[in-house]
Amino acid sequence: MSLAYPAHRGTLALAGRPGYDAPHPGTPSPTRTQHSVTQAERRDITIIGGGPTGLFAAFYAGMRGASVRIIDSLPELGGQLMALYPEKYIYDVGGFPRITGKDLARNLIRQGTQFEPEVHLEEQVQELLRDDEGFVVQTSAGRYPSRTVLIAAGKGAFSPRVLDCPGYDTLLGRGVEYHVRDPARYRGQRVLIVGGGDSAVDWALGLKDETESLTLIHRRDGFRAHAHSMQQLQDAVDAGTVDLLTYREVRAIHGDDCVTGATIFDNRTDEDTTLEVDAVLSLIGFRPDLGPLADWGLDLERNTIRVSPAMETNIPGVFAAGDIATYEGKLELIATGFAEAAVAVNHAVHHIDPKARVNPGHSTNLKVFKDREEAQPAPAG
Ligand SMILES: Cc1cc2nc3c(=O)[nH]c(=O)nc-3n(C[C@H](O)[C@H](O)[C@H](O)COP(=O)(O)OP(=O)(O)OC[C@H]3O[C@@H](n4cnc5c(N)ncnc54)[C@H](O)[C@@H]3O)c2cc1C
Repeated sequence: MSLAYPAHRGTLALAGRPGYDAPHPGTPSPTRTQHSVTQAERRDITIIGGGPTGLFAAFYAGMRGASVRIIDSLPELGGQLMALYPEKYIYDVGGFPRITGKDLARNLIRQGTQFEPEVHLEEQVQELLRDDEGFVVQTSAGRYPSRTVLIAAGKGAFSPRVLDCPGYDTLLGRGVEYHVRDPARYRGQRVLIVGGGDSAVDWALGLKDETESLTLIHRRDGFRAHAHSMQQLQDAVDAGTVDLLTYREVRAIHGDDCVTGATIFDNRTDEDTTLEVDAVLSLIGFRPDLGPLADWGLDLERNTIRVSPAMETNIPGVFAAGDIATYEGKLELIATGFAEAAVAVNHAVHHIDPKARVNPGHSTNLKVFKDREEAQPAPAG
C-alpha cells in the first residue's frame, strides 16, 4: 500500500485541449491535469465527482497522506455549486454566514487541491472493474487503477440539456454551444443566448459589451437568475445593449458550415421571427444522470446508494458520500456531505491499511500542517 504523501504531480494544463470549456464568468480556476491513460498509476483513493463532497474528500485524503485522483464529467470542479447555482447565496454552511455557490466552490477547490490530487475533467466514469489490488475505474477516456473508490457523484453525471430543434446537433461546435468555451470568439458577433438561469443571464452580461448584438430569449417571463444579475440585465436592456425577449423558444437554427441565423417563436401566439446571428448559446442547464453507476451491482435505493455507518457500500473498498449516499435519516446538504466525506476517507484509509487508525485526530495537531506552516509561514495578522 502506498499511503505516503502523494507522489503524483500533475503534468499538463488542459486549457487549449479540444473540448476545454472556459469556466463560468468569475469561476475559480481548478487545478487541471492531463494524465496519459497508459501511464495511469494506482492511487489509494479515486474519487468519482468533483462537487463539494468530492473536493472535501480530496482534501481529507491528502491530509491523511493518501494518494488521490478526482474524476468529473463536467469541464470544471464544483459540482452543483458551479453547474446549477454559482451566483446564489448559501446560508447553511458552517463558518459562512452567507456565501455564493461560486465562492464556496473556489474555497473548496483551494482546500481540496492543496495536496495536488490528480484531476481528470470532462471524463464520465462508466465501469468499475476489479483487479488483484483493488479496482480499475473505466472512464470515457481512460482506465485508472485504484485501491479504493469513493463515489461522490451527487445526482449523477451532468449532461447538458439540449434544444430540440433542427440545426442544434448539426451545428453544435460550429456556432452552437451549450457552454461558453472562449468568450473572445464572440467579439463583434451577433449572439443569441437561450435560457433564464444564472448561466444565461451572467453570460449575457459578460458578453454584451463585446458583441455586435446580443439577444437573450427565455420561454417564460420568470427567471431563475440572481436578483442582482436581473437588475443588471434590466439596466442593460434599458441601455440597449441586450435585447431581451420572453415567451420565446428556438424553432430552428440555420447555417451550413456555421450558424447564420435562428428562427424563434412566441410560444403564446406561435408567431415566428428569424434573426441573423453568428452564434447560439444554449445555456439551459444540465441534467443529472446516474447512468452506468446503476449497473455496478451497488445496493441502490432509487437514485442513491445505500451505505453502512462507515459510508461503505455493499462492495468492500467502494465508499459513497454526499447526495448519492443514503441511510436512515439522511439529509442532502453540503454540510452532511463534508462529514460523510471525512468518515468515508478515514475508513478507506483503514481499508487499505488495517493498521492505520480510523480516527486521525484533529487537524490542529497534525504534523503535515505543522511542517507546511514551518515551510511557508502564514502572513502576520
Ligand atoms: C438550486 C440549489 C440550491 C441549493 N442550495 C443549497 C443550500 O443552500 N445548502 C445546502 O446545503 N445545499 C444546497 N443544495 C444542495 C447541494 O448543492 C448538494 O447537496 C451538494 O452539491 C451535493 O454535493 P455532492 O458533491 O455530493 O454532489 P454534486 O454537487 O452533485 O457533485 C457531484 C459531481 O459528480 C459528477 N459525476 C457524477 N457522476 C459522474 C460520473 N459517472 N462520472 C464523472 N463524474 C460524475 C458530477 O458531474 C458532479 O460534478 C442546493 C442545490 C440546488 C440545486
